[in-house]
Amino acid sequence: MLNPYKKDFPLLAKTYQGKPLIYFDNAATTQKPEAVLKAMERYYIEENSNPYRGLYDLSTKATESYEHARKKTAEFINGKPVEIIFTRNTTESINLIAYSYGREFLTKGDEVVVAISEHHSNILPWQQITKEKGAKLTYLYVNALGQIPEEEIEKKITKKVKIVAIAQVSNVLGTIHPVRYIIEKAHKKGAVVVLDCAQSIPHYPLDVKKLNVDFAVFSGHKMLGPMGIGVLYGKEELLLKMPPFLTGGEMIESVSEQAATFAPLPQKFEAGTVNVGGAVGLSEAISYINRVGYDTIQKIEHELTDYALNQLAGIPEVTVYGESVVSNYRSGVISFNVNGIHPHDTASILDADGIAVRAGHHCAQPLMKYMKLAATCRISFYFYNTLEEVDAFVKSLSNVRRWLNNGN
Ligand code: PMP
Repeated sequence: MLNPYKKDFPLLAKTYQGKPLIYFDNAATTQKPEAVLKAMERYYIEENSNPYRGLYDLSTKATESYEHARKKTAEFINGKPVEIIFTRNTTESINLIAYSYGREFLTKGDEVVVAISEHHSNILPWQQITKEKGAKLTYLYVNALGQIPEEEIEKKITKKVKIVAIAQVSNVLGTIHPVRYIIEKAHKKGAVVVLDCAQSIPHYPLDVKKLNVDFAVFSGHKMLGPMGIGVLYGKEELLLKMPPFLTGGEMIESVSEQAATFAPLPQKFEAGTVNVGGAVGLSEAISYINRVGYDTIQKIEHELTDYALNQLAGIPEVTVYGESVVSNYRSGVISFNVNGIHPHDTASILDADGIAVRAGHHCAQPLMKYMKLAATCRISFYFYNTLEEVDAFVKSLSNVRRWLNNGN
């Protein structure tokens, strides 16, 4: 399969361990197309200066580039520019919501609901803030396929619940959760919903208005952009009611010895010098994704996932966790183990063949414990991967199996 996109990614042209690099750790971070690298380079060469502060032209240019990135991000998810707060990553976005909205609006006896399959970054902030406020953290438990049963949603999302925080796609099992249904249920009970889109927005379009979601968060680095830039979308009426998270320069209107008034949205939530280069990179990443198109991205990933799942199903020593077939409930993240081999060893053997995969608990220890797993290997696709790479991966897995049969 000739992949027309691969050539746009300089790192994918490199050899790795003396072989062509096969990069199957896209759920951790994606590779960056040349267009993104060039846009960031251009910003640093031509416009680098501290935005907002200077009255000189260079600073105005940096401000314009930063605000252009905000506008682009808003259009991408169908929000308004004032509803886009740039953060460092998904983790910081969720912390902002927990320590601002959660601290302001949670009271004793309230509940926050997350799924057992959440990434630690969508668990720990809620653990901390519920403890601080005397509220309770409860979990939606998944079935063996990683799906959240409807009865679980009915049972757990009660009138006591003030916040539901859920990933649209699981970073371990690739499960696509019924977020539209969860948002409707939560709103009926008076709760707000925080949608963790870290694993969904690289692959599926997000329309915050259509979903009527209260908050949506994601990381630039998982969608072709650079590390160090993340997004928090919040409905304007909610952001207006929330106190600042971090305080300091650039987020104020005026400061006296003992008090301060804060800047309007979105600056109220962007304390200190912002990451203009990162925002420029994210903006270019959005342009790249728009050029490829989500339909094409999904078509390629669907084919890759279907092919890989079929290949893995044919290897008796391999156990795949979660859904074993591609469906509307499954994305291109596949967790598996080679029976009797530690996943770290499997990953090391694959690495020697130039194949980068993840092994471990994937920052989801509660899910691992719930599924009685210590660790898994994980492959995760993006649209620049190919069926030939899947073939090479399956071939390399036979080395792991040979190792197993030798009783090493
Ligand atoms: N949520 C999910 C579902 C994730 O997969 C990840 C990253 N693996 C995160 C949150 C955290 O993202 P970041 O490290 O960029 O903050």
